[in-house]
Amino acid sequence: MRHHRPDDQYQEIRAAVRALCAQFPDEYHRRIDEARGYPEEFVDALTKAGWMAALIPEEYGGSGLGLTEASVIMEEINRAGGNSGACHGQMYNMNTLIRHGSEQQRQKYLPKIASGALRLQSMGVTEPTSGTDTTKIRTTAVKKDGRWVINGQKVWISRVQHSDLMILLARTTPLADVAKKTEGMSIFIVDIREAMKSGMEVRPILNMVNHETNELFFDNLELPEDSLIGEEGEGFKYILTGLNAERTLIAAECIGDGYWFTDRVVNYVKERVVFGRPIGQNQGVQFPIAEAFIEIEAADLMRYEACRLYDAGLPCGAQANMAKYLAAKASWEAANACIQFHGGFGFACEYDVERKFRETRLYQVAPISTNLILSYVAEHMLGLPRSF
Ligand SMILES: Cc1cc2nc3c(=O)[nH]c(=O)nc-3n(C[C@H](O)[C@H](O)[C@H](O)COP(=O)(O)OP(=O)(O)OC[C@H]3O[C@@H](n4cnc5c(N)ncnc54)[C@H](O)[C@@H]3O)c2cc1C
Repeated sequence: MRHHRPDDQYQEIRAAVRALCAQFPDEYHRRIDEARGYPEEFVDALTKAGWMAALIPEEYGGSGLGLTEASVIMEEINRAGGNSGACHGQMYNMNTLIRHGSEQQRQKYLPKIASGALRLQSMGVTEPTSGTDTTKIRTTAVKKDGRWVINGQKVWISRVQHSDLMILLARTTPLADVAKKTEGMSIFIVDIREAMKSGMEVRPILNMVNHETNELFFDNLELPEDSLIGEEGEGFKYILTGLNAERTLIAAECIGDGYWFTDRVVNYVKERVVFGRPIGQNQGVQFPIAEAFIEIEAADLMRYEACRLYDAGLPCGAQANMAKYLAAKASWEAANACIQFHGGFGFACEYDVERKFRETRLYQVAPISTNLILSYVAEHMLGLPRSF
């Protein structure tokens, strides 16, 4: 069953991505999950078909699409039973480089990313001691003899082992010396292979989802001077380009998950006969599914609004946060209904429900927790006093 607004403008993209995803059926994703592997062939196929270069302007070899189209690609992957978490980094990092990088940086990286020769899948923001309080990060970058010297630590940095490039946030001016705490941070583009040879250690974190994520340790890692993106000290502003894109794309992924769960459970409850009738005939079964479906549809509207503002270059922090909040909540409701009405079978790996259940659960916490979105809305939209 496919639900689309009658005027959905993205049918062509959807059909093409769906056709590619059909070559990677449930068994493929299940096998990768069981092996805690990385879906190399799947990500390669997406790259070869040009989908991973969707946001790269045509003059650099990409297709020059917007975040809206990128979000449709991610949605369709999740809707087909896959997990965009393996490759969404390239989508949310891309505009940080395009919008804030120099022409020289764009020339250097974009054509190679478009061709698939380089992957830009990682973004290093989170640290163990600062958590969500990003302005308190302790990783520092100090300029010395025409190089940037990086020291510090990051945690939960994803896809580092399957990426060539990473966008890294570090403090270039100590917190004590800036007027506003969001000042004095900078972003850098890091060549991961080079960094692993000269001061960056990568320690994988085994986790609930099959999601490649790591602790990073920087011990006098030296970066070339031209690895700085944009102006020194303005990095927090720039990283928001990536964070807002990330929240919006993940909202679309949760919507894809939500439809996957509702499709699966609807099909199942129509077929499963207990007490002499399909379980889907009971309203106690119908209502939680219908409720989740309504919430997915509503979240979808906010997702398109966040995409629209982002693509227009307008402020979209509130909409990106709200879209992610609504979509992550809706997909979680749908996941719960799906596992519940599969009864015992929801727990059997071969039904894929437990895998998708684990995958969608992440988005209540990352990339920003539900509580932090609520406090953002309370403070920035409702004008309530900041509580921390
Ligand atoms: C699988 C995975 C992949 C990730 N990938 C990346 C990545 O690629 N790059 C990256 O930079 N980061 C990544 N992250 C990190 C992620 O963004 C953080 O885990 C998330 O932002 C929460 O930060 P934290 O874990 O430090 O939680 P904390 O900040 O310690 O917060 C813990 C909990 O406390 C609550 N809380 C905290 N402060 C408040 C408050 N003021 N008011 C109310 N409640 C509060 C929230 O409920 C929150 O969930 C990833 C995380 C995971 C789990």
